[in-house]
Amino acid sequence: MPKKIYDVIIVGGGVIGSATAYNLMIADNTLKVAVVEKDPTYTRASTTLSLSNARIQFSLKQNIQISQYAFEILDQFEDAMAVDGTRPGIALRREGNLFLFDHAGRQAAEKSLALQQSLGCQAEWWSPAKIRQRFPIYESSDFAGATFGPQDGHFDAHSVLMGYKAKAQSMGVQYINAEAVLLKCEHKRITGVKLGSGEILQSALVINCAGAWAAQVAQTAGVELPIVPVKRQVFVLDTEHKPKTPLPLTILPSGFYFRSETGGLLLLGKSMSEDPVGFDFTCDEDRFMEILWPELVEFAPVFEAARLVNGWAGLYAVNTLDGNAILGEWPELKGFFLANGFSGHGLQQAPAVGRYLAELITGQTPTLDLSIFQPQRIVTNQPLSEDGLV
Ligand SMILES: Cc1cc2nc3c(=O)[nH]c(=O)nc-3n(C[C@H](O)[C@H](O)[C@H](O)COP(=O)(O)OP(=O)(O)OC[C@H]3O[C@@H](n4cnc5c(N)ncnc54)[C@H](O)[C@@H]3O)c2cc1C
Repeated sequence: MPKKIYDVIIVGGGVIGSATAYNLMIADNTLKVAVVEKDPTYTRASTTLSLSNARIQFSLKQNIQISQYAFEILDQFEDAMAVDGTRPGIALRREGNLFLFDHAGRQAAEKSLALQQSLGCQAEWWSPAKIRQRFPIYESSDFAGATFGPQDGHFDAHSVLMGYKAKAQSMGVQYINAEAVLLKCEHKRITGVKLGSGEILQSALVINCAGAWAAQVAQTAGVELPIVPVKRQVFVLDTEHKPKTPLPLTILPSGFYFRSETGGLLLLGKSMSEDPVGFDFTCDEDRFMEILWPELVEFAPVFEAARLVNGWAGLYAVNTLDGNAILGEWPELKGFFLANGFSGHGLQQAPAVGRYLAELITGQTPTLDLSIFQPQRIVTNQPLSEDGLV
């Protein structure tokens, strides 16, 4: 069998892998790029199980800039990703994000807000009275206030993934339906990827885009990453009370969040420190009844009459060092690049991450310097600080 040799092999064809593949072809359309994806239905990919929100409301400058670029891309995504006249419809709805803060969180929130505003973002401080005026159904008097990003919003994550994938394929990227079972290395350099079939694909450059499976993939090359799969759940409610206008993604200090969904539904969830680590996709209705439902009704009693329609579980790829992305070449293995550890905000980071990695790999000066996320900080144990993790 002739050897298959690529300039770049990407392990994992979710939104990060596909955005990276597309951006590599934009950077250099002569590259031979393969994306190895074990599940082309994406049933368990975080991308398709996410809440699909994008926001500029972060505290780290680079995370804000990443989101600014995300909106630039999302606003013209349908035209840019058209293939032979077929445009992906991504249903971008910029209905806002409202972060509520208690008194303990107010100072940090105001600092983040000032930074967002200094970078040109639309974001504003709302007093409890303003929250009540805009959303009278919220019991907001116990809070110090909120930050509102009117341009934040949500979109169809599956369509964004399919848009990137179809465009990348149209530009020559090869998607291979297989599991990468081993990263091949020699003398501290990556040399290729072994597939479940035993076939070996050769490349001096491999990018780990395996999402919640990233640590497992890296381990086959002897690289230990501080990334764990953490189960998060989202529930769908049909409420008797139907707000006349969509509710923004509303996030309480406890981590509880909800937003309107098309068809008069509500989506809700909560990230909790005791959420189980592991590849567990079961949805736990008790959690809804015992934790989320009481919290929703306390904050917005108008939603007391409601029916639980659906729910699902997906995985955050949690970077246990600091919850932020890990981007760039692993310092101890030449040619092994990482795009991992996105926790709960990877979807919106895909456009900037894809562009950054493509620029790094093709030797261009990055348009947006994301070196703050370099893997070296894992080796030297220097966590970044980001207050806006959900
Ligand atoms: C409930 C929930 C809500 C979320 N909400 C948001 C949100 O509102 N906004 C936001 O920005 N982010 C959100 N996220 C996070 C976001 O979904 C992820 O950060 C993002 O999708 C990560 O993309 P990815 O391509 O790295 O991972 P994935 O989409 O998981 O893709 C990784 C792919 O790698 C493949 N793979 C793994 N191992 C191998 C292997 N060995 N060989 C071949 N293929 C392999 C998998 O099959 C998978 O398709 C949420 C996540 C969850 C679970």
